[in-house]
Amino acid sequence: MKRRHFLASLGAVPAGSVLVAATPPPALRMLETDVLVIGGGSAGTIAALQAGRLGARTTLVESGSQLGGTTTTGGVDFPGLFHAWGKQVIAGIGWELVKAAADLGSAELPDFTKPTGRQHWRHQVRITGNLYAALAEEACVKAGVQLRYYESPSSVTATPSGWRVRLAGKGTSVEVVAKQLIDCTGNASVVGLAGLARLREKTRQPGTLIYRVGGYDLPSIDMHAMQAKLEAARKSGALKPTDINGTIAGWLGKGGESGNHILGADSSTSETHTATNIQGREALLRVLRFLKQEPAFALLTIERLQPEAGIRETYRIVGETQITHEDYVSGRVFEDAVAHSFYPIDLHYEGGVTPKHLNEGVVPTIPLRALIPKASKNLLVAGRCLSSDQLANSALRVQASCMAMGQAAGATAALAAKAGTTPAQVNLVEIRRELTKHGAIVPRTG
Ligand SMILES: Cc1cc2nc3c(=O)[nH]c(=O)nc-3n(C[C@H](O)[C@H](O)[C@H](O)COP(=O)(O)OP(=O)(O)OC[C@H]3O[C@@H](n4cnc5c(N)ncnc54)[C@H](O)[C@@H]3O)c2cc1C
Repeated sequence: MKRRHFLASLGAVPAGSVLVAATPPPALRMLETDVLVIGGGSAGTIAALQAGRLGARTTLVESGSQLGGTTTTGGVDFPGLFHAWGKQVIAGIGWELVKAAADLGSAELPDFTKPTGRQHWRHQVRITGNLYAALAEEACVKAGVQLRYYESPSSVTATPSGWRVRLAGKGTSVEVVAKQLIDCTGNASVVGLAGLARLREKTRQPGTLIYRVGGYDLPSIDMHAMQAKLEAARKSGALKPTDINGTIAGWLGKGGESGNHILGADSSTSETHTATNIQGREALLRVLRFLKQEPAFALLTIERLQPEAGIRETYRIVGETQITHEDYVSGRVFEDAVAHSFYPIDLHYEGGVTPKHLNEGVVPTIPLRALIPKASKNLLVAGRCLSSDQLANSALRVQASCMAMGQAAGATAALAAKAGTTPAQVNLVEIRRELTKHGAIVPRTG
C-alpha cells in the first residue's frame, strides 16, 4: 500500500489535504543588483525610486508588509515641511507621491502662501498612510524596483567591488551581490552590521503610539472634574504621566490624537521593538479603561490605531561630516549640499516638546558627506539616521527632509554604480543635474 493511502487509511490525512514531507531549510539563492536599499520607509522608498528611474537595477528590502515606514505603518501621515517662507524648498519624487496621495484621497493641500507663524504643522499635508503605501508600491513596480517585503539583512560583507548581503525572510534565504548599498532603516542597522561606528544618546527622545479616540462631546465634558480624575489616576498608578501628556483638555481639544510618550522607545532590534510596541499598547489600554469609567465617554470609539509605535530616535551614523545645531539654525550652505531641510528644532522630552523656530529666511541644507559613513566605500544612508548632532537631528528627521535626502542618496548610488566609483567620487554637478531632472530642488551653493 502506498504511504499516502496507508496514512489516509489511518485517518491521518483528511480527504482533500496533501501530505507534505518535512520541508528542508530554503536553499541559498544568489541575486545581483546595482543598488540595494534596505528599509522602505520615508527615505528608502524615494531612494529606490530615484535609483530605479535612473536605470539602475534596484532592489528594495523592507522588513514590514508595506512601504512608507513611519509615514504609513507608524501613522505619521502628515509629512512636512516642503515649503519655507512662502516658497517650495523640497519637491521631487517625495512631493510627487504626497501630492498623488492627496489627490486620490481627496485631501486638501494647505495654502502654502499663507505664513503659519509658530503653527508650522499647518503646512504639513494630511494624507491616508496606507494609500500612500499603495501609490509608492505602484511607482516602484513601474520603475522596475524589485520589492522584497518581510526580509532583513543578517550579514553585510564588503567586497572589492561592492557588497554581499545575506537576507533572512519567511521561507527565503538570499544573498544579494550589490554594487552600492543604501541604509534607510532609520536605525543605521546596515552600518552597524558593516562594523562601522554609530552614535546613540544616553537619553533618547520618546516614541509615540499613534491612535485617535472619538465618540465624545467635547463641550459637554467638565474638564476641571476630568483633570482632577486624571491626576488621581496618575497618583494611584492607574495611569502613567506619559500616557496622556499635559492636560486632558489639551489632548481632547486637539482631537484626542498622539498624546502619549513611550520612554526608552527603540526600534533597533526585534526585541527592543517588541518591548516598545507592548509598552505603547499597554498605555493605550490604560487610557481607554480610564475614559470608559466616565459617562461622557460611554460611546467612546477608536478612530485609528497604528500597528506599531512611531520611533523618533535610535542610532545615527558617524559621517564624513556632521550637521550641527549651529549649522542647522544658521542655514549653513554646505559646499556639497544636495537637499534642503526645513523644520523647527523639535526635541521631545518626557513631558512634551517646545519647538524652537528658525529665524525668518533661514533654510538649512543637507550635505552629501552627512549621508556617507566615515571610512566607508559604496555605502550611503538616508533618513533620520544621517550624520547630525541630536538637536539638528530633531529637525532633520522629518519626512520631507528624509524624502529629499533619499532622492539624493538614490541618485548618487545609481551614478556610482554606473561609473564603478564610490559615492564620494561621483561628480556633484552630475548628481545635482540628475536630481533637478527628476524634479528635486537643489540648494544654490554659490
Ligand atoms: C510620533 C512621531 C511624530 C512625528 N511627527 C512628524 C511630523 O509632524 N512631521 C514630519 O514630517 N515628521 C514627523 N516625524 C518624523 C518622521 O516621521 C520620521 O523621522 C521619518 O518618517 C523617518 O523616516 P526614515 O525613512 O528615516 O525611517 P522610517 O520611515 O521609519 O523607515 C525605516 C524603514 O526601514 C524598515 N526597516 C528597519 N530595519 C530594517 C531591517 N533591518 N531590514 C529591513 N527593513 C528595515 C522599517 O520597517 C521602515 O519601513 C514624527 C515621528 C514620530 C515618531
